[in-house]
Amino acid sequence: MARGIETKCLHLEEEEGCGGNYGAVSYPIYQTATYAHPGVGKSTGYDYSRLQNPTREHLEKVVATLENGTDAVAFSSGMAAIALLMELFAPGDHLIVDADLYGGSIRLFQNVSEKNGIAFSHIDCYREDVGRYVRENTKAIYVETPTNPMMHVADIRELSGIAKEHGLLLIVDNTFLTPYFQNPLDLGADIVVHSGTKYLGGHNDTLAGFLVTNREDVSEKFRFLVKTTGAGLAPFDSWLILRGIKTLGVRMEKSQQNAAVLANWLKGQKAVTDVIYPGLPTHPGHETMKKQARGFGAMITFQLESREFALAVLEKVRMIRFAESLGGVETLITYPTTQTHADVPEEIRERNGITECTLRLSVGIEDVKDLVDELEHVFQEIEGELHGGKKS
Ligand SMILES: *Cc1c(COP(=O)(O)O)cnc(C)c1O
Repeated sequence: MARGIETKCLHLEEEEGCGGNYGAVSYPIYQTATYAHPGVGKSTGYDYSRLQNPTREHLEKVVATLENGTDAVAFSSGMAAIALLMELFAPGDHLIVDADLYGGSIRLFQNVSEKNGIAFSHIDCYREDVGRYVRENTKAIYVETPTNPMMHVADIRELSGIAKEHGLLLIVDNTFLTPYFQNPLDLGADIVVHSGTKYLGGHNDTLAGFLVTNREDVSEKFRFLVKTTGAGLAPFDSWLILRGIKTLGVRMEKSQQNAAVLANWLKGQKAVTDVIYPGLPTHPGHETMKKQARGFGAMITFQLESREFALAVLEKVRMIRFAESLGGVETLITYPTTQTHADVPEEIRERNGITECTLRLSVGIEDVKDLVDELEHVFQEIEGELHGGKKS
């Protein structure tokens, strides 16, 4: 019988009931670089930790299970995972990538991959006819859905149809929703990318990344590449991510609940000119998201009336921390234009609608009343300062 995802976060079926590891309920940290061989031409199954380590392998199996993949590889960061992913491609190859992506991914494509001879078309995959951009040498479509930070929702099934028609790989960065809310492989994607630093780890304390696939040929290439290039996740960090994943379900539910409250609160503010949250029925991607995901996540992007207002919010928040990153138990507020998306060329940033008035909230699991109280207090203070205390 297929188990529910909360159970899969805690129990790896294939490793149950064998009495291994002295019955330890928490998987051991195998802090070793190398492994002694029982004899010449014999191996315990582990030879050197760059190739594989039992703690990392256990984590990889858990993540593969959560995404319904056949293999997952754990990396030292999300960017390490994406950098290795790009090694699937060769000079002369062309990729279709979403125009609105995590800033670090755009930086990698434009400054590293292009230098290595790979060409990119940056297009709005949520609204453009993606098939029109396929060239002779196109090898893959790369998207996030919802995108970071503008929360555009692309139809994964539709993209998968186009990818299959042209023999392309469909790659989906599933960091924002996690396997708890969305499984791109089930919708026809070939590869799922994660920054495990975010919701999978969930505590703003560890960097990690993943590539997950259900294709044997792709998995073989990943295994060869991680052994060869060496960015596999360390044993202790693997254990921290394993520990984070145990509470993925309850964290996702609670942060999503809080996000819905905050999105509605923000909508009622005079100083807020736009609230971009796919859970709002007015969001253009709301219906697509309902078809392909089990939730809307806990990331909210919103626009303020002015740059001054946005900066003042960042200056005044206290419990809500002004920091980059997302997906942890603590609520964070980010200024994409100077933080996560600072290295994205200005014309792309502006075209995507990221301005000096744009803020991004990663809603955590605090008592939502305290989050609303803090924002209410901060907004009132700023309105007093900017508009001379005149009440609207
Ligand atoms: C953070 C992030 C990354 C990069 O991951 P790191 O762990 O910071 O290297 C990639 N994609 C998305 C959507 C992200 O939010």
